Amino acid sequence: MRALLVIDMLRDFIYKDCVLPVNGAKKLIPPINYKIIEFREINEPIIFICDSHDEMDEEFDVWGKHAVEGTEGAEIIDELDRREYDIVVTKKRFSAFYNTDLERILKGLNVDTLVITGVVTDICILHTAADATMRGFKVIVPENCVATVDEEKQKWALRHIKEVLDGRID
Ligand SMILES: [Zn+2]
Repeated sequence: MRALLVIDMLRDFIYKDCVLPVNGAKKLIPPINYKIIEFREINEPIIFICDSHDEMDEEFDVWGKHAVEGTEGAEIIDELDRREYDIVVTKKRFSAFYNTDLERILKGLNVDTLVITGVVTDICILHTAADATMRGFKVIVPENCVATVDEEKQKWALRHIKEVLDGRID
């Protein structure tokens, strides 16, 4: 069984006037929605992974304040085809596995393969892909469904996922 992970498609990262804007993140919306429809049609799980920080999180020393729990900026953007029954997992660090229930949820659903989408390719996507691989999950990253701040970082991260983590880049 596969699961679709949609990582950090939050207002604070996606909109142009947000705290941590990611170039080109808006163009991910149609291809991610397309993936969501594909998974929904065959009843494979869709899991939204969302940064959700405490007011004074130490991560803000490096990245500035973003995705504070309970604020509008920490909400999933409305443009995505999200349903009530989709799973939402909140995280406080780059990896979707760190201090979250994700592994337990995936094992409970008999998931062995993760299709990872969202932002940003060289941070949360990469660290989640690495943690997934170390836990025995197969990783697939559709190239048109992930973005970061520049082309060089995008290429480096995708190559790392492919060559080091043995992931598949579609
Ligand atoms: Zn964060």
